[in-house]
Amino acid sequence: MNTIQIRADLHVHTTYSNDSLITPKDLIYYAKKNGLNAVAVTDHDYLDGAIKIAKETPDFLVIPGMEISSIDGHIVALNINEPIPRGLTAKETVERIHTAGGIAIACHPYVYFKGSLQNAVCKEFDAIEVINARAVPFKKSIKKAQEAAKKFCLSQVAGTDAHYGPQIGYGYTTIDAKEPTVEAVAQAILQGYCQPHGQQVPVILNIQQQTQRLQRMVNKTASKLKNQL
Ligand SMILES: [Zn+2]
Ligand SMILES: [Zn+2]
Repeated sequence: MNTIQIRADLHVHTTYSNDSLITPKDLIYYAKKNGLNAVAVTDHDYLDGAIKIAKETPDFLVIPGMEISSIDGHIVALNINEPIPRGLTAKETVERIHTAGGIAIACHPYVYFKGSLQNAVCKEFDAIEVINARAVPFKKSIKKAQEAAKKFCLSQVAGTDAHYGPQIGYGYTTIDAKEPTVEAVAQAILQGYCQPHGQQVPVILNIQQQTQRLQRMVNKTASKLKNQL
């Protein structure tokens, strides 16, 4: 079978998530700069932004998705045709993702601080995010996720969980797809034609992210105050 190799960061937040600094322009700029030929947009509990960016970027493969806050932890859905509500159980969320035509990824299932699924990972998922480039603890969470992938027969993927442009691509998945389309990428992941890669995001980039986020908040507050004067 002739396939094309897709190199995609499957977990990126844009400014459609309140906590991210990545504008749609930054998204494509850094994805290309860091050697990717595709990127998934997975904003927190919001799908429309991802679909809009994908439509407005015909010359780069943008995979629309969202990161859903289930009551059991965060779940990434890719290639869905409607948004999935937050606050359901992990099992219900996965079911809704499948009904919406998408694939369900157990993202950062064993990290501290991030709404990790822990024991809610189950065979109903399609894939597990083995490498999350911003995971703490990094190595231990990879090992646990690899064990779970084997136990539940899940495909293994990687992403950065980027919230700042230069972080994009530290975690990425190579996917052998029939063609460079969202549907073919989702199918290839489902069938296990994919491999996780990556390294931990350097601390300096996380510090820069926090500094710029603070700066943005200060600027917003300043302009609000100015408007009130
Ligand atoms: Zn998360
Ligand atoms: Zn995330």
